[in-house]
Amino acid sequence: SVPLSYFSSIGKLSKEGILLKGSNYIDELTKIKTIAFDKTGTLTYGKFELSEVIPADGNFKKETFLKLAYLAYNAEKNSNHPLAIAICKYYEDKLLSKNNPNYLSNDIFIKLLAKKIKIKSVEEISGKGIVLKYQCNNSKNLKENIFLIGNEKLLKMYDIPIVNSNIGYSTTNVFLVINDKYMGYGSFDDNLKYESRETIAQLSKMGLKNVLLTGDTEKVAEKVAKNLKVDEYYYELLPVDKLNIIEKMSSNDKIAFVGDGINDAPVIKRANVGIAMGNLGSDIAIEASDIIIMNDNLLNIVKGIKIAKYTKKIVH
Ligand code: ADP
Ligand code: MG
Repeated sequence: SVPLSYFSSIGKLSKEGILLKGSNYIDELTKIKTIAFDKTGTLTYGKFELSEVIPADGNFKKETFLKLAYLAYNAEKNSNHPLAIAICKYYEDKLLSKNNPNYLSNDIFIKLLAKKIKIKSVEEISGKGIVLKYQCNNSKNLKENIFLIGNEKLLKMYDIPIVNSNIGYSTTNVFLVINDKYMGYGSFDDNLKYESRETIAQLSKMGLKNVLLTGDTEKVAEKVAKNLKVDEYYYELLPVDKLNIIEKMSSNDKIAFVGDGINDAPVIKRANVGIAMGNLGSDIAIEASDIIIMNDNLLNIVKGIKIAKYTKKIVH
């Protein structure tokens, strides 16, 4: 049977916004040796902002940029990925807002585009980006054109080389392709949560090993890992790679995984203790998790472990 103090601790935890899906997670929390974190939306706020647009080497016309923006918006508008949200926000705020000097919604070209281009399909590929297929209404040739928006892995799937002489790698880059032609990339910044560093420091002090798992590039992962002083970091991971790493780690140790769950729900489910961010997290992630941090504050993980350890101590 479950000791009474477990129930009072679960109540105490829930008042702090730490929801446990069962009293067994009090014990599980005390046994964790390694804690793995997703990056975007977990250690960072997941609120990307476009900092730069770098066209492919060569000339770029306004018309081309508008076409890219229009297709990017249509590709991303149904995705809940933090990058998708940033891209759509940029399009709506910067390009379609009347307060903006570059106000474009009356732009004849955008209107023409909407008439000319017929979107046939949009497919999101986890950890890579989006493939949008479209036709041009006015051409006799009704072949399907492909627009890509995503990372280098997505471009590799279609054998598209990146032709930019100087690529900055310290921010998250999103590359664009129209009809086999590489067009350039947008560079996006995200910020670490204010409590991330303190959380990692406290968990280390408690003797836990901290690991970063990300789909982003080596440079971005390294920057975050060094800044936060995590013990290990893995980068350019697909959701399935994260799953394999968790699988391997949990054969030695009890492991927790913390994520916002945008495409990480299976990883949350597989960890001994799966922890989801409640605010930004997806419904599927909340469903797959054992513990939900309601206000997304990472320090609540530290608090949760401390309360669990205390609860166990007074029972034994
Ligand atoms: P993380 O591990 O940081 O949470 P994800 O697995 O969600 O990252 O995504 C990994 C990478 O895949 C992103 O950094 C981005 O380059 C690319 N990507 C994923 N989804 C999208 C999307 N909807 N649009 C553009 N790029 C995407
Ligand atoms: Mg993610």
